[in-house]
Amino acid sequence: MLLSEAKELPAMTELTITKPDDFHLHLRQGDLMKQLVPLTAESFARALVMPNLQPPVVSASDLKSYQKDLAAVGSDLQLLMTFKLMPSTTPQMVAELRQAGAVAGKLYPQGVSVNSEDGVTDVEALYSVFDAMQEQNLVLCIHGEMPGVGEMEAETAFLPTLQALHTNFPRLRIVLEHVSTRAGVEMIKSLSATVGATVTVHHLLLTIDDVRHDHHINPHHYCRPVCKSEVDRKILLETVLSGHPQFFFGSDSAPHLKATKEVSTGEPSRGVFSTPVALPLLAQLFEEYDQLSRLEAFVAQLGADFYQLPKNKDSITLQRSPWTVPQEYFGVVPLWAGKTLEWKI
Ligand SMILES: [Zn+2]
Repeated sequence: MLLSEAKELPAMTELTITKPDDFHLHLRQGDLMKQLVPLTAESFARALVMPNLQPPVVSASDLKSYQKDLAAVGSDLQLLMTFKLMPSTTPQMVAELRQAGAVAGKLYPQGVSVNSEDGVTDVEALYSVFDAMQEQNLVLCIHGEMPGVGEMEAETAFLPTLQALHTNFPRLRIVLEHVSTRAGVEMIKSLSATVGATVTVHHLLLTIDDVRHDHHINPHHYCRPVCKSEVDRKILLETVLSGHPQFFFGSDSAPHLKATKEVSTGEPSRGVFSTPVALPLLAQLFEEYDQLSRLEAFVAQLGADFYQLPKNKDSITLQRSPWTVPQEYFGVVPLWAGKTLEWKI
């Protein structure tokens, strides 16, 4: 790929890169799952599939049965399966999950995310489980927000827990999912290469002003962790554009039907649906900062390296062909709905 040469051309019309990976994705269940799997396969070769279903993926048999459901949809998307860490998870279960093909376990502190009411309240109580994950060479993915702390401070408040985990399990590969703050970025950079972070498209594009404005919430921009300040956004963007090897793409694309988003009372469901627009948006953003040559590493190399996976063999081509993002995909409003994008898959 001679992107560094290609970008010299003023009117670059096509961009071919290794087919990307999405290292944080919600593929849901039922009818929604059947639509999401093929849509994801249009943009991504592999996806790390989140386990927060109802009921969650906890045991080896849960994992096998979800994998079977996903595979039955029929697509060439390669599934990287995960399990949800529960207060009841044991080292024996970790060994069985590894045997069943799990690549990562996900830690959700209680109450911070969708379907996390049954999450973990005492991280230290799981130390024997983290030890087993370290021995089994599994990745620990963390939703790094401290329960009971305000949405703007919750990630920063969680960082000492992350640091303690790394100190106690230096060989355990840990991912701070959807990093959203300057403090989070700085913490990751201060730790060794066994700790990384996924970065979403929406945290690179939006700030809290795009989520809340004059007491009004834009439900389609509402997620946890919430998009933060312009200072936070800029440092995320600089870090990603610099090609820092500890930061790689994970969309956290989390579709919710419009009816559970556009509610007249109460809190909208949390999650941004970005799968169909993620690559065009990233291409536009990287191009804007004259770093299109670094897009491929961010979406198709650094994450695979962290997960100790080979680079994908397939490639994907983006064309400069402006299109308007649909208002809905199967009842779900995507990020950038109704707006124009320069690049098309
Ligand atoms: Zn998520």
